[in-house]
Amino acid sequence: MLGRDHALSGAFAFAALGPTLHVTGSHLAAGVLLTAGAGVLPDIDHPDSTIARSFGFLTQAFAWIVARISGGHRHGTHSLVGIAVFSAGALAAGSYQLSAPHLTGHAAFSWHMLPAGLYLALLYSAALRALHVGGHHGDLLGIGGAVITCYTGWDLFRLGVGHWHVPLLAFATALGCAAHIAGDELTHGGCPICWPFSEHEFHLLPRPLQFTTAKIGENWIVFPLLTGALVLAVWHATGHPL
Ligand SMILES: [Zn+2]
Repeated sequence: MLGRDHALSGAFAFAALGPTLHVTGSHLAAGVLLTAGAGVLPDIDHPDSTIARSFGFLTQAFAWIVARISGGHRHGTHSLVGIAVFSAGALAAGSYQLSAPHLTGHAAFSWHMLPAGLYLALLYSAALRALHVGGHHGDLLGIGGAVITCYTGWDLFRLGVGHWHVPLLAFATALGCAAHIAGDELTHGGCPICWPFSEHEFHLLPRPLQFTTAKIGENWIVFPLLTGALVLAVWHATGHPL
């Protein structure tokens, strides 16, 4: 699946859950964009992917390392282990940000924001790049958005999931990665969800309904459907009846 459609599917997943999670306003906007970024995150295992090219050789070198560790493209980062590792990383960055000594609920800058800020900048920039928003200025927009999100603490907003209260940052990561894997499972490639225990590639659709990345099926059916679904989900999440 193309980066553009992965970002759209992540954004749609968050917007669709918005009313259930009682997320509105700036938290909804941050969540939609973060999940769009997390929607392209699993492709950090490929040096030529949208997200790997976000910050030039820095992210490309990181992608090269991730590919070595995770067994190559569409392996470890496209599995349940991958979702768990990315989410745990986001949770750790959020916890560190929250542990800032003088951060007692109101906005303030602290070094403790650095890991979460870098991660947010990566997700925002990757989402804007994937959606072709902002052109070369998309990265600057992403960095600016990350600074505002960290400063206001929007990324730490707690979402009620069952008995848990999960920070927005970690929730968006898990949801975006899951949407990515589901998207790749609609293609002929499939995903090895049980990696490293099994290399078996799982599919969500029977073979005749699967599509090939960047071909007619994706451009003329999947992309319009995702765009329409996202518009409807945002419309509904912002308080308008369907
Ligand atoms: Zn992928």
